[in-house]
Amino acid sequence: MTEPRHLHRAWADISLSALKNNIDIIKKLNSSSTEIMAVVKADAYGHGCEKIVRCLEKECGIKYFAVSNIDEAVEVRICCPNAEILILGYTPPEYAGDLLKYNIIQGIVSADYARELCSGISERLRCHIKIDTGMGRIGLRNASSEDCAAEIAGICRMERLSVEGIYTHFAVADSDNPDNIAYTDRQETFITDTYDCLTAMNIRLPHIHFMNSAAVCCRNSPRSTLARAGIIIYGLHPDINMKLPNGLKPVMSLKAVISHVKNIEAGDCVSYGRTFRASGKMRIATVTIGYADGYSRLLSSKGEILVHGHRCRILGRVCMDQIMIDVTDVPETHPGDIAVLIGTDGSETVTADELAGLYGTIGYEVVCGISKRVPRIYTK
Ligand SMILES: *Cc1c(COP(=O)(O)O)cnc(C)c1O
Repeated sequence: MTEPRHLHRAWADISLSALKNNIDIIKKLNSSSTEIMAVVKADAYGHGCEKIVRCLEKECGIKYFAVSNIDEAVEVRICCPNAEILILGYTPPEYAGDLLKYNIIQGIVSADYARELCSGISERLRCHIKIDTGMGRIGLRNASSEDCAAEIAGICRMERLSVEGIYTHFAVADSDNPDNIAYTDRQETFITDTYDCLTAMNIRLPHIHFMNSAAVCCRNSPRSTLARAGIIIYGLHPDINMKLPNGLKPVMSLKAVISHVKNIEAGDCVSYGRTFRASGKMRIATVTIGYADGYSRLLSSKGEILVHGHRCRILGRVCMDQIMIDVTDVPETHPGDIAVLIGTDGSETVTADELAGLYGTIGYEVVCGISKRVPRIYTK
């Protein structure tokens, strides 16, 4: 056997050509005044930060990256000495020195936080100021954009801070309900008005950004200097009911090997809890992946796994490391064959979004949840 050892259990194929394809499509959707800020938090949504970031920078020309914390930021910095890296989440003030050392831009959520962050440093820290326009998570909250601009002006006067932009996050940009569209419109108006107030006060910031994946798909605004695109660069839906731009391709496929095939008889039980009992003769196969690999136990008796291009239902409970499936109608199934849990096999496809729908979550959680036991294999 010459294949690498991982091919004998479970692995995730990561298609860098799908990634490049998706970036090309997003670039065409964005207006010329908007650059992509690739969101690579959570290990690039489970796709593996290092390889994804290197590909985005070297082969796609991406210059801006967003992450959730300082460790992720440093990981990106090591890959890309020249990239602009924004931390969207919290950095404890005692790490302000690291932000300087690695030339990282920090999201600022309040004047108090800005003061704390600057209290122990002597150089100017780069930042973008986060405004809460309706997400209700983090950021400055003000009744009017004038008040917001005044508060930002105060932060801009802090000596050891270099404010380079403002941003906000949409809460329902993935919805086509008129009420939700109006809500998103109000969020956008609030931040653009705030920016205009700042300009009128002679505070000119290079960046204002509010677009996420959903906004890229359905409400492009030339006023957003950056589009913080996350899930669509990986080829998945911001919301399952939303139509994706044509041509986007899922970057991740999840595969595992079949370790055992056997016949069972009427009355035989399969897996923990005996939740599946055969009503007649059938042929079943065991697949070498389980919930410890991030294939959720909530898919017990629900999910379908592709074998030789056929959908095979899961029989009973998903175990920690193994799953049993019905291969009665796929008699050519043999130990050593490859089962596709996410991806395409022949004319059948199972997407992360489909699995998410089966157990009441979103594709984001499915791909982020593929555990570190699963090696990521990168293909051109
Ligand atoms: C995660 C995140 C994004 C990316 O969201 P997608 O829906 O994946 O595009 C953008 N902005 C902020 C603040 C985020 O936290």
